[in-house]
Amino acid sequence: MEISRTKVKDLLQMPAGQRVLAKGWVRTKRGNKEIAFIALNDGSTIKNVQIVVDKNADTEPILAKISTGACIGVEGNLVESVGSGQAVEIHAENITVYGECDPVRYPLQKKDTSFEYLRSVAHMRPRTNTFGAIYRLRSQMAFAIHDYFHSRGFVYVHTPLITASDAEGAGQMFQVTTLDLNNVPKNKKGQPDYSKDFFGKMTSLTVSGQLEGELGATALGEVYTFGPTFRAENSNTPRHLAEFWMIEPEMAFYDINDNMDLAEDFIKSLVKYALNNCYDDIKFLNDRYDNELIERLEGVINTEFVRLEYTEGIEILEKAVADGKVTFEYPISWGVDLQSEHERYLVEKHFNKPVILTGYPKDIKAFYMKQNEDGKTVRAMDVLFPKIGEIIGGSEREASLTKLEKRIDELQMSRKGLEWYLDTRRFGSCPHSGFGLGFERLLLFITGMSNIRDVIPFPRTPKNAEY
Ligand code: ATP
Ligand code: MN
Repeated sequence: MEISRTKVKDLLQMPAGQRVLAKGWVRTKRGNKEIAFIALNDGSTIKNVQIVVDKNADTEPILAKISTGACIGVEGNLVESVGSGQAVEIHAENITVYGECDPVRYPLQKKDTSFEYLRSVAHMRPRTNTFGAIYRLRSQMAFAIHDYFHSRGFVYVHTPLITASDAEGAGQMFQVTTLDLNNVPKNKKGQPDYSKDFFGKMTSLTVSGQLEGELGATALGEVYTFGPTFRAENSNTPRHLAEFWMIEPEMAFYDINDNMDLAEDFIKSLVKYALNNCYDDIKFLNDRYDNELIERLEGVINTEFVRLEYTEGIEILEKAVADGKVTFEYPISWGVDLQSEHERYLVEKHFNKPVILTGYPKDIKAFYMKQNEDGKTVRAMDVLFPKIGEIIGGSEREASLTKLEKRIDELQMSRKGLEWYLDTRRFGSCPHSGFGLGFERLLLFITGMSNIRDVIPFPRTPKNAEY
């Protein structure tokens, strides 16, 4: 009878002297005339288990079938390892080859391991050490996020992916339709007749679950969403995806300061979780690509984020330019939206720690943000991080129906599609706040990767939707 499989992660913790069965993919095979050494990985850990095979007439034909990438099962004795690197190894007695791997055609060759190349074989890149580590970190962090909110009594609300509200980001939305594009039904004005479309109106993929999140918060108190988000912004940057995941907590009775406190504690807790639970993977990424990664992660946990008004931020940036300390591609003055280069100057050069910027001009922020007394600024807050720039965007929400309606009119938005949202202000309105954390931006920070396409398994970007 075949014994049951043990994962490599567990094997490496076990005492020598037992019979074990490991299954996985061959990372390398080497050896001499007498013995072969196979490094086997099964995805449970960044570490491989070493398999030692005696070469003889029985094993030679099997070894001949085994090359990098092949899938095998190995039964044998777990013995103390004489070589360095691991405590135990498997002395093979019985090897099953599940799948051979053609060494010539296998897409993961030593000769090209650039991230760019690996993106072109994104269907195979999870087999690399680097992407194994990233996938595991992604999974762990998703768990950590749910854990954080659940342990604090937040309710996980599922907000729709298909939406008829174009309140946010019109023009940035992917339309959802079953109309025949070769024969679109038209109304009297010659425009597409959406009454004939699947939902009887124009619909798109969501750019944020916030508005629906507010419906949850104004009933359940503290809620969060965590789901796919879609933005058709044609920006080919290392920080933007067309499909990404966003975490959006929304809390009744939180003002902007409570919101900032939560954002800071949340992010610090996640980074702490990563260091405590995923250290092997982080250490691998640190040693391989980015020697300052662990230091940066620890730095964030142990520092108080700077809290700064937008107006002061602009003054600092203007002064830096005037003093010749920096030149920016995009000019800076009060009223402009900050570009990543500006955000990173504040974080990396001026303060050398994360910054939460508040009090943005109302004209560059969304209609629902709470208006300040000055009539010019709103209670927005962006959390700015080293190497990334904006990682979180949020605000206290405008709770007053009249102010909200006035703002909607000023922006010449249609109130009609927003009546359901305005009902939260009409019936038992309450002060509340929330924010959105881009899951991949968080992962960029935690993995130290520099391109957002490398922290999501199957990136969707302009002109790219392979697999
Ligand atoms: P940016 O200015 O960086 O484009 P934004 O201000 O448009 O971001 P928000 O609408 O505030 O973004 O969304 C909240 C969070 O979602 C951002 O802070 C960021 O972490 C993340 N995010 C936004 N757009 C994208 C995108 N295209 N790809 C990945 N993450 C994104
Ligand atoms: Mn933002």
